[in-house]
Amino acid sequence: MSAAPRGLPAVVLSGVHSGPNPSPGLGLARSLRLAWPRLWLSALDYSPRATGLSATVFDRVHIRPGWDTADLAGLCSGLVSIVESSGAVFLPGLDLEAGLLATHHPGHPALLLPPAAAFALVVKPGVGAAELLGLSVPEYRRVGGIEEAAEFAAAHGWQVWVKGSRYQAVFATTRVELFNALGHIRATWGDEDVLVQRHIAGVEESVVFAALDGELLGARAMRKTMVTEEGKTWAGTVEPVRADGLRRVTEFARATRWTGGGEVEIVRDTRTGERYLLEVNPRFPAWVHGATLTGANLPARLVAAATGITQQGKEKAYASGFVRTVEEIPVTPRTAAVLTAAARVTPPVPASGKHPSEMPVLARRLVTPVPHAETGEPDEETARDVAAALPVDPGVSPARVLFPGALRRAMDVLTGVCQDVTHATGVRTRFAYSVKTNPDRRVLDTVLRRGALVEVISQSEAAFCADAGFPADHVVLTGPAKWWRFDGGPTKFGAVFCDSLTDLERTVDLVGRGLVHTDVLGLRLAPSDLTSRFGVDVTHPVTYRRVADALRAAAVSRLGLHFHHAASRIGPRVWLREFTAAITVAADLCARTDTRVSCVDLGGGWVPGTSRAVLGGLLGRAARVAVRELGPLEEILFEPGKFLVERAMAVFATVLDVREDPSGRAAVVDASVAELPDWVTHPHRVLWRRRGGSWRRLGPGDEVILGRLCMEHDQPREGVALPAALAPGDHVLFLDAGAYDAGMSYRFGVRP
Ligand SMILES: *Cc1c(COP(=O)(O)O)cnc(C)c1O
Repeated sequence: MSAAPRGLPAVVLSGVHSGPNPSPGLGLARSLRLAWPRLWLSALDYSPRATGLSATVFDRVHIRPGWDTADLAGLCSGLVSIVESSGAVFLPGLDLEAGLLATHHPGHPALLLPPAAAFALVVKPGVGAAELLGLSVPEYRRVGGIEEAAEFAAAHGWQVWVKGSRYQAVFATTRVELFNALGHIRATWGDEDVLVQRHIAGVEESVVFAALDGELLGARAMRKTMVTEEGKTWAGTVEPVRADGLRRVTEFARATRWTGGGEVEIVRDTRTGERYLLEVNPRFPAWVHGATLTGANLPARLVAAATGITQQGKEKAYASGFVRTVEEIPVTPRTAAVLTAAARVTPPVPASGKHPSEMPVLARRLVTPVPHAETGEPDEETARDVAAALPVDPGVSPARVLFPGALRRAMDVLTGVCQDVTHATGVRTRFAYSVKTNPDRRVLDTVLRRGALVEVISQSEAAFCADAGFPADHVVLTGPAKWWRFDGGPTKFGAVFCDSLTDLERTVDLVGRGLVHTDVLGLRLAPSDLTSRFGVDVTHPVTYRRVADALRAAAVSRLGLHFHHAASRIGPRVWLREFTAAITVAADLCARTDTRVSCVDLGGGWVPGTSRAVLGGLLGRAARVAVRELGPLEEILFEPGKFLVERAMAVFATVLDVREDPSGRAAVVDASVAELPDWVTHPHRVLWRRRGGSWRRLGPGDEVILGRLCMEHDQPREGVALPAALAPGDHVLFLDAGAYDAGMSYRFGVRP
């Protein structure tokens, strides 16, 4: 085997794929050639699809057996003997390969990679590493399935990353995206519990560094100026790391006894300036040659320090930034043969998607699957609710069942929240239940008995509530179609909130002509930073002026302000920010028009199951903002919908068939998306029982429950583990079906 001429280093590199998301091998090779034009360079990768294998910068290439072929210890020893026999040092370009070598050949002087303990420290989310680096870690959770993941996502405004423990991060903003991302990460990398993490909107920076035995050899900071669709670097500017950051990286390298290259990925929150750790990579980044071109050849410094052979040329800054280009090169005969053979039988291989270094195969070999408990006990409250609501006559299956206990508990929480807000602000606080969420008469009766109000969006809903016994001053009218089928009046409401300027003008006119009486005449405020079809954006100067004119002309005596944008969608943080922005501008407008605000109404969208402390904390903060900006109020209203009812109903169903095919099992039940039309927005918890048995809760898994309808999308629940004993005739209960699943349910495939 050949080696470099005397006085020059020999280097073996791994991970040489060059695509939209490249490995660092080619960049490392270019940097090393700058320092030693005649060094001996060898490339190593795990399939001929690693495009860099054809690059002329290499003196020799090795295509190693795939990770599924031999035992892992044997593969590591084979790699080490390639390095040793050519008297070379090894620079890894693949995280998992490097981690494996650190375990199998600890402390090997030719392997320029961090010790095993350092690998353990930087596994995502990297809490220990962040502490050493003086960075925060975005909130995260390890989840077993979609139920936990969706709960986390709702708490963080549906802006979350699903991350493999070593590689890959997928952004998710909906339940469907989240479910697919969990499935993808699990199938690709074999992770059992998948990491979900809050998204931080901000500026991303990276720090590349090199160290030998814990001594830092240099570091550079890079800001991305162009990115690929996946967010990977395409161009960037590079500068020295600031003193404070350099001190941190120096300490980090020392504490971890780091050897080799590394990269710290950071995001700086645009709003708060706080710096968060995204990840630490235990190898040089693919853009490392970009840093070399700006005057810091870190790969060469590392090889020089490890071999004692000094760089031939001086490090030189060609520019303060770099950009990538695409280049065609001749394919080498060996790779050409394999790629041509592949092309005969399959369509072209994607340059980015196929993992040419076979890391997913290795990842899956490295995990030991944890068996999931098949079913579990339902929590005590649910068990009591179910026992009180059943038995259902199996002859009526599928059937929607009410859990009065769950409804009562949610009302108790909300009553408590109202008390907390009254206590904090001195303002009378009540809630108005959103009728459209679920107009079930039993729900309305419970609301009525509590002395609470109702919120309606049409004249017919208002009539329905009058019929249910609600006095007119306990009815709040909102929405864009409130005068649809208006009978001409006169009629009375507790409050009317207008959805647009024209709606305001029309309502003012109806009130002026004595056709509508209302204690409070109000305006719905639109969020300013988010798109919404509802409300009036008073932060826009033109709209501001028109609203001011309308208010002056109408001389509204008791104005109400209404804000509603589902916190379950945008998260409490953004919700409070948007509310504060809208209310601050509205306060200014009211002061200028000499209009007194008597009532503030905060819309629904609260996550079912939120505790009194958490919901009270959020609404209390919002109420204090309102009082601070608007002065003393007469009343604060909340408009809960699903918070009150989602957990108060379930759909009882019977198993019709249990199917088994090579891709797994599926249960067909007599319920469907007609009874569970809201199946997409939240994963419903599912209980199961054998006939005569007790109810068990289904755990997370890869199986699916199919509905009775002939529609491809009639799959009310994915991502569950079906019990081994599941059989036709068993019963299931889809929990969390009391909100829009009830309000929007329809008859389909029931009666011809
Ligand atoms: C639908 C609606 C609600 C209730 O929303 P949930 O998401 O069910 O809590 C509250 N206020 C208004 C104006 C609504 O349109």
